[in-house]
Amino acid sequence: MVQALPVVSATPEVDQRGRLLELDREALRQWFVEQGQPAFRADQVRKWLFQRRASEFAQMTDLPKAVRDKLTESFTIFSARIVAHQKSQDGTEKLLVGLAGGGEVECVLLRDGSRRSICVSSQVGCAMGCVFCASGLDGVERNLSGGEILEQMLLLQHCLEADQRLSHIVMMGMGEPLANLPNVLMALGQARADDGLGISPRRITISTVGLPPAIDRLGEHGVAYNLAVSLHAPNDALRNQLVPVNDKIGISSLLAAADRYFHTSGRRLTFEYVLLGGVNDSAECADQLATLLRHRGVLLNVIPYNPVAGLPYKTPSGHSIRRFREILEGAGVNLQFRQRKGSEIDAACGQLRRNRVSS
Ligand code: SAH
Repeated sequence: MVQALPVVSATPEVDQRGRLLELDREALRQWFVEQGQPAFRADQVRKWLFQRRASEFAQMTDLPKAVRDKLTESFTIFSARIVAHQKSQDGTEKLLVGLAGGGEVECVLLRDGSRRSICVSSQVGCAMGCVFCASGLDGVERNLSGGEILEQMLLLQHCLEADQRLSHIVMMGMGEPLANLPNVLMALGQARADDGLGISPRRITISTVGLPPAIDRLGEHGVAYNLAVSLHAPNDALRNQLVPVNDKIGISSLLAAADRYFHTSGRRLTFEYVLLGGVNDSAECADQLATLLRHRGVLLNVIPYNPVAGLPYKTPSGHSIRRFREILEGAGVNLQFRQRKGSEIDAACGQLRRNRVSS
């Protein structure tokens, strides 16, 4: 039986205040100067926000009371609602976040040894249409702002124990980060700033379906983030089926853009390959993939398919996983199989979606 959803009658209140997280250090310093305050107040606020994990201006006790009041009048800090918070046995936590700007996205905290990685969304929905992924089932609704991307990072930081720090960020949540590059770069700029989250770009990965002009723009930006390219197929006929945007791009121009990024950034590239049982896991696919990658010195990240309710794809058999691995390793391709984390709460790759759709 389908449960009726509660009727929402009240119009949500619109908060007219500005959103603090949309301001970088310079913009906040500027604001203080306009208020007749010293610019260093911005540094005090940022320390509370990023290091001391404050969620309200009232907590910022080294600021004069009048300044705290003015800040409270002028800005919100956290403007999203946590609609759901799930925790998995393996320490993975997933937040479903209702954004002030409309729509819902998910983001995930993964605990692995001493690593504390977060997986963050960049869009409500996704326009890329990869046939095996939950995030794009209903298309894209909108881009997240820089502040909305940053807010996910801070909300996940708040899930950590006080003595722990975020160590890694992957832009592998919902959406295509390179289709929202300026806002993604704004948020990542705050994440890596020494007075922000202080995470080195070496520990930040942007995952993309592979949009060559945007890969070039990322290279021109000049910060050496890690780039992960979601390849998923070793030839255009198959990639066109699995990743429809490939039709207008083609694997060879994608690989050329990835190579250019490697040359400008100096960072080893990662290629991601979701292994779909009976679709792209044959010996022939493995051979073709080895030919594409063996001379590139890249890391191949193979992700056995995580089931998505309503989609017809299957996790590959143990036999075909072993065969795939042996062929690629035999050809000298550096590969790793991605561990499945958070799958019991649908927080694994490709399982993030934009609504609480019943599954
Ligand atoms: N749009 C970006 C980032 C989001 S997806 C991209 O395409 O890279 C992050 C990774 O999860 C991608 O490699 C994606 O292809 C993979 N993925 C999507 N659906 C999956 C599924 N059902 N099982 C396993 N991995 C999946």
